[in-house]
Amino acid sequence: MIALAPNATIGIVGGGQLGRMSALAAARLGYRCHILTPEHDSPAGQVSHATTLGAYEDAAALRRFASHVDVITFEFENVSAEGLELLASVRPVHPAPSVLRISQDRVAEKTFLNDVAGVATAPWRAVTDMADLAEAMAELGLPAILKTTRLGYDGKGQALIRNASEAADAFARLAPKPLVLEGFVDFAAEISVIVARSGNGQTVAFDVVQNHHRNHILDLTLAPAPIAPTIAVEAQNAAVRVAEALDLIGVLAVEMFVDAGGHVRVNEIAPRPHNSGHWTIDACPASQFEMHIRAVAGLPLPHPERHSDAVMKNLVGPAEAALWPDLVATPGLIPHLYGKSEARDGRKMGHVTRLFPKGALPGPFGIAAALGVLAQKP
Ligand code: AMP
Repeated sequence: MIALAPNATIGIVGGGQLGRMSALAAARLGYRCHILTPEHDSPAGQVSHATTLGAYEDAAALRRFASHVDVITFEFENVSAEGLELLASVRPVHPAPSVLRISQDRVAEKTFLNDVAGVATAPWRAVTDMADLAEAMAELGLPAILKTTRLGYDGKGQALIRNASEAADAFARLAPKPLVLEGFVDFAAEISVIVARSGNGQTVAFDVVQNHHRNHILDLTLAPAPIAPTIAVEAQNAAVRVAEALDLIGVLAVEMFVDAGGHVRVNEIAPRPHNSGHWTIDACPASQFEMHIRAVAGLPLPHPERHSDAVMKNLVGPAEAALWPDLVATPGLIPHLYGKSEARDGRKMGHVTRLFPKGALPGPFGIAAALGVLAQKP
């Protein structure tokens, strides 16, 4: 892959905070970014060279966007794979549309993870009707989680099933969409790994982090994850195997459970920078966003070194967004705000990172103290 020349233009499909932070990293490497989004004044558009305003299904807008850029990536996974294929007929698209296709469908994703990448997931069965569901419950046991195969995120499109009556309710709520039943993993921790891979096959993995969710939305990320080194190695190896099996160019987030036996099971993958990698902006010389831009632009990937331990706390919804004046006044908190004009419930408005000397990540009380005003909020 030939390196993109300075001042070349990287097209980013999607105008959210992931595109914004990617555009900031691209600018530092001397590239311009051009955003495709339906949104006026998007978080990514605010820090980019240009925006094409258009719907992701609008073939004319997609073509117009592609004609202005040298290479294309995406920060938004709900663009159609067909739309991305159209773009790929005009300009190189990284990661490839085939990668997006796999990550958009839980059945395709789990089949790929188990059969091609050779990594463990929760046990699962595809479900289309109540008879399938009954059979799947008999095989996997309860509790189990019924999920829509497509367009689920942050806990949306899923239901916990603990008994037969909950099964009927869950099915009624989620059907007729294609579904998948997953055995419940009684996890010791939720962890993730961000891995980057370049066009010449160079693959690097950031340190494993632990994630805590609140209301199904990521709340806190601890870097590194306080887990045994053997589990961390298993997690990084699994993430690298997935990136290689996908022939990935770009970054990939691999979310995993540490199960009761101390082994990792992949929950889901996202072929883009990920919220659980935001700590890398402040705790690593090259962040996940820089790694992504480097991979997409054909530049070498530096060692994904962590110079500090870190805690990343998301600012979600109006209550946490309203703490901003206190946060920017708190020494030691590194603030990141995404430029969204309206704070709605559940909306990610920004995040803060707190660094600690390497090897000195405190326990829960120390972390709460280090987050100051944020730790006191419900
Ligand atoms: P997902 O939308 O698949 O990321 O799931 C959202 C959250 O639900 C995860 O972060 C877990 O906390 C929980 N979850 C999802 N799948 C399972 C599972 N098979 N076993 C236990 N918990 C799960």
